[in-house]
Amino acid sequence: AAKHERRGSIGFYEEKLTSVSQRKLQLSVKLKQALETEQLRVFYQPQYASETLQIVGVEALVRWHDAEWGWIGPDEFIPVAEEMGLIERLGEWVLLTSCTQGKLWLDNGIKGIKMSVNVSAHQLRFGQFMGTVKQALIKSRFPAELLQLELTESSFIEREQEVIPQLIALKSLGVQLAIDDFGTGYSSLSYVATLPWDTLKIDRSFINRLPEDKAQRQMTDTILQLAKNMDLSIVVEGVETQAQFDYLRSKKCEVIQGYYFSPAVPAEKITF
Ligand code: C2E
Ligand code: MG
Ligand code: MG
Ligand code: MG
Repeated sequence: AAKHERRGSIGFYEEKLTSVSQRKLQLSVKLKQALETEQLRVFYQPQYASETLQIVGVEALVRWHDAEWGWIGPDEFIPVAEEMGLIERLGEWVLLTSCTQGKLWLDNGIKGIKMSVNVSAHQLRFGQFMGTVKQALIKSRFPAELLQLELTESSFIEREQEVIPQLIALKSLGVQLAIDDFGTGYSSLSYVATLPWDTLKIDRSFINRLPEDKAQRQMTDTILQLAKNMDLSIVVEGVETQAQFDYLRSKKCEVIQGYYFSPAVPAEKITF
């Protein structure tokens, strides 16, 4: 642990700032090692057809257990990976690992499971991303049609001139594209209309007070209608209660994902 020199005038905030950036620095060193020594894992959170409760897809979520620090969440280390230039390698590894797992399920007779993989905005800023996706598909022999890439709104709104052609190129590979955390970014509906999306993932902040909250009911109903009109699939994430589930099912929301059904788990824990 860091020992700070304490001169009389150094205040609490400065010390706190130092320890925060030190943790970040240590984190980036650890993360680099973790990548090199294959200490990261991918867990999979099932997505269910709301009618039948059959698993129709999974979302790949990266997991990291450090011997010293314990579990570290992606919300903490993904931004560090982005900042420290590690996200391409991390993203490439997650993509190949997930596609390989998807192929394993196919080879075991589990057909049609869609594999959704999160993609960071940073990955799209580099011209190689298209090649990374191609390579992952070729190496794993996983069919492009079953791969879905999840992007958040901020990733295509910033630098749109560079990103939009990439999205179109990705579609031409046959992969599917989803807007993640829909409604939480600087949403502009024109992006929903003009880009080649397949799926909207409604953020859990829109559904956490269902069914009691009237505004949330109106919002979800509207988003579901929008998706239907635009021929987009819907996944609702963060379903935590039977009441939320009942409401969403009654509104014909196709696919649901959340702790009420299952958290992200190791591949072998999923029973299809
Ligand atoms: P996300 O893509 O929106 O993923 C959903 C997050 O919500 C996951 O957190 C998941 O475990 C959590 N979640 C699922 N169901 C529920 C629920 O019912 N209630 C609550 N409260 N939470 C639920 P996780 O795994 O900690 O990931 C956080 C974020 O980190 C992800 O948000 C995604 O943006 C990012 N992330 C995770 N894995 C990767 C990755 O491989 N690459 C990139 N670029 N980002 C990743
Ligand atoms: Mg996601
Ligand atoms: Mg999300
Ligand atoms: Mg998120």
